[in-house]
Amino acid sequence: MAANLIPGKEIATRIQEEVKQEVVELKRKGVIPKLVAVQVGENAASAVYVKAQARSCEKVGINYRLHQLPAETSENELISTLQALNADSTVTGIILQLPLPQGLDVRKIQSFISPVKDVEGVNPTNMGWIVYGRPGLAPCTALAVRECLAYTGVKFYGKEVVMVGHSDIVGKPVALLLLDQFATTTVCHIGTGERGLLPDHVRRAEILIVAVGKAGLIKGEWVQEGAIVIDVGINRVGDKIVGDVEFEPASQRASWITPVPGGVGSVTTAMLLANVVKAAENL
Ligand code: NAP
Repeated sequence: MAANLIPGKEIATRIQEEVKQEVVELKRKGVIPKLVAVQVGENAASAVYVKAQARSCEKVGINYRLHQLPAETSENELISTLQALNADSTVTGIILQLPLPQGLDVRKIQSFISPVKDVEGVNPTNMGWIVYGRPGLAPCTALAVRECLAYTGVKFYGKEVVMVGHSDIVGKPVALLLLDQFATTTVCHIGTGERGLLPDHVRRAEILIVAVGKAGLIKGEWVQEGAIVIDVGINRVGDKIVGDVEFEPASQRASWITPVPGGVGSVTTAMLLANVVKAAENL
């Protein structure tokens, strides 16, 4: 069986169109959505991301500003910058670009982003709302995974979901969001991998989501016939970008699969824009 592709770009375009309309509505009511990205020091990967953010915002009518700080910025100075942005009523959304220079405590600093302007859903308050089953501004990649799954029309109730990877911004929130839909959710991590138990868990998955960052970690032959496969991983192999799942053999067994690139990544950017609008509406 050849899997259907979950078309990340098409899903992203639909969300961007919705966001564009919502921005028009907001402006009609006198609310101007404005996203500020704070970047500390220089980083090639982050610079690419910042440019992409600026372009995406421009397309849907969201104001965007990059606030650059020198690499030697102290924790207190960075926190003061965030507090000033929290207090600025013209700013409706804030992003703290990662990575931060070494020595800065990322989680502590993220906790100073006002929860109502935290469009990446990284403040502990927003993480906590997910635990309570009332997600507000949730991490964009987790929301993107949920959108990709929604595209397939799958019902989560009682389904065997296996989430490989338990990072704070992807694996854990995805697991909690699906648990809340009454999926039977298993979370695998390095301990699972090192004990050699990944194949057994993956074979059980009716819905498999992988966010690790290791090309080819998930063998196609492990994928259950008819499973839905969401590959969050982004890995550079030579001049190619690939996911964590062996795409060809997995797509022979799965019913739906996300391509990499052009899958979850495209939707993630769109979910950031959706969060910016949501934050502006709620301010
Ligand atoms: P991360 O913070 O490095 O987390 C990776 C996770 O994988 C950790 O939970 C780690 O467990 C687990 N892991 C490592 N080796 C494993 C193994 N052999 N078996 C099972 N689990 C293993 O990464 P992340 O931020 O979640 O990102 C994961 C991947 O998704 C990366 O490729 C990243 O580029 C990509 N990504 C894509 C998007 C998108 O929009 N498409 C967004 C964000 C990230 P331990 O912590 O216990 O070691």
